[in-house]
Amino acid sequence: MCGIIGYIGNKEAFPILINGLKRLEYRGYDSSGVALLQNNESIIYKKKGKVSDLENFIADSDVSGNIGIGHTRWATHGEPNDVNAHPHTSLNGHFTLIHNGIIENYGRLKDVLVSVGYTFKGETDTEVLVNLIEYIYMRGNVNAELAVHYALAKVIGAYGLVVLCKNEPDQLIAARKGSPLVIGIGEGEHFIASDATPIVEHTNSVIYLNNDNVAIIKKNELTLKTTDNDELTPNIQKLNLGIGEIEKNGYAHFMLKEIFEQPRSIKDTCRGRISLEEKSIRLGGLHAVMPKLIDAKRIIIVGCGTSWHAGLVGEYLIEDFARIPVEVEYSSEFRYRKPVLNDTDVVIAISQSGETADTLAAIELARSAGATVIGISNVVGSSIPRETNAGVYTHAGPEIGVASTKAFTTQITVLSMIAIELGMKRGTLTPKESNGLMEELILIPEKLERIIKMNDSFEKIAALYKNANNFLYLGRGYFFPVALEGALKLKEISYIHAEGYPAAEMKHGPIALIDENMPVVVIAAKDNSYEKIVSNIQEIKARKGIVIAIVTEGDTVIREMADHVLEIPKADFALAPILAVVPLQLLSYHIAVMRGCNIDQPRNLAKSVTVE
Ligand code: GLU
Repeated sequence: MCGIIGYIGNKEAFPILINGLKRLEYRGYDSSGVALLQNNESIIYKKKGKVSDLENFIADSDVSGNIGIGHTRWATHGEPNDVNAHPHTSLNGHFTLIHNGIIENYGRLKDVLVSVGYTFKGETDTEVLVNLIEYIYMRGNVNAELAVHYALAKVIGAYGLVVLCKNEPDQLIAARKGSPLVIGIGEGEHFIASDATPIVEHTNSVIYLNNDNVAIIKKNELTLKTTDNDELTPNIQKLNLGIGEIEKNGYAHFMLKEIFEQPRSIKDTCRGRISLEEKSIRLGGLHAVMPKLIDAKRIIIVGCGTSWHAGLVGEYLIEDFARIPVEVEYSSEFRYRKPVLNDTDVVIAISQSGETADTLAAIELARSAGATVIGISNVVGSSIPRETNAGVYTHAGPEIGVASTKAFTTQITVLSMIAIELGMKRGTLTPKESNGLMEELILIPEKLERIIKMNDSFEKIAALYKNANNFLYLGRGYFFPVALEGALKLKEISYIHAEGYPAAEMKHGPIALIDENMPVVVIAAKDNSYEKIVSNIQEIKARKGIVIAIVTEGDTVIREMADHVLEIPKADFALAPILAVVPLQLLSYHIAVMRGCNIDQPRNLAKSVTVE
């Protein structure tokens, strides 16, 4: 959600900023802008729409300068238009600000500023903050750094921000509370960004800001402080990210690339963690909390969107293999209820980005109640791994497409490994069962390769239903969360309304929607409720619905009844969700392409949801 990029050094800042904004586009945004410091004046260009619109708008302008900041905005306060786009400048022009997050008490702060003569051009909370900084700077007669410190002390809310003061043109000031920021260290230059993707082509030495950190960034000098002005020792880390990983490498879209990468990313998730010789699973990041997990009275999984769906699969897996009661909660609901928690509970928080605001708040709540908290995330160095007691990285590699694909399948892979390991350690799986499951897991990448090879058949079906207005997705047991995820994928990228349901629930409502125009995707691979789902398919056909069935290869029964069948290889049904979701990802992808949608940056969506 929103992207921040800043540069200070000897090079021309503009090309670095504009390329950085392009790298950040995947996070989701509605407008963009840059500010450059020229002869101690801050020159701002901003535009509603895509970064390419900004580039066209600037085409003939003077974009020289060695210090600058750039922003992609995902509007929270005030409509997406040129005025509300960032950077924002203060009334007297002393400060320029880019901000990710929400200033919750902006209304009250604005009233105070209006009462002392400030006026505002737009409706954003960010414009209030930049003026507050300026007001404190001018009234208090303090330097820019102190003005930022004092202003932030008055702010309630979340922010990742970068400030430029034209009177102190040798520095950028950055601060973080809630929204991520990372500093790149070059030779005689520094970069700052929301994530490492715009930095990796310049340097791989980085510092991740923690909450309540303020950084004073100069060409050759970097000072890290707390918001209370205490100096900190920066922890410089090496990025483990190749530039090739954040490029399309010949694919039409990142989403397609990421779907096709799943065999490899699942191998990476399992690498070094499953040993068939030793018949063991080793998740190093969980070692310290394993006794807690083994004795947990209850596991609560929290997440949002696709991660929540992965959590549902996790519930089935952990209850099935380890016989520990599991509840799955939306982070946003969990954090505002008064959940009953105690120190025998283990909370597993799932987030691709590791920055999801609601999930971070859920973690804080769980920790303060004494529960053990485990994180599952994809982004090394992100907030969730740092805020949890222990965790597991999915190692899916950067996921740039907004609609999550390989993050989902690798999250399920991690949850499978946790469930199998717990099953072994608790004695709820026999050695034969656990060995069988480990062998199955190792075979998943090869089976995924076979599904991906059938890409053309998904495209053909997509062509038939690309104009549908509604889709229904049904599944039972392990395939119910897959149905939810399939429906979400279609909604996200094709804007077709789609609902996922447990197949048996169809009779309690959705069956009323079924007619000859309603495509129903039924995930009907072989499992212990196969006979039941066959009956559900009959019920749909009896009402003339169109059935697109995902079946286990060699299934002849459903082939007879369904309009279309898409086969997935045979697998233990507890692990088959990883396979069954891939045809649904590809179906959504092709439909969205045929409808001319923006695949990698669907409208209104953000990749990393850093506001609640
Ligand atoms: N709340 C700010 C705005 O609406 C920042 C949004 C963002 O994170 O992009 O302008």
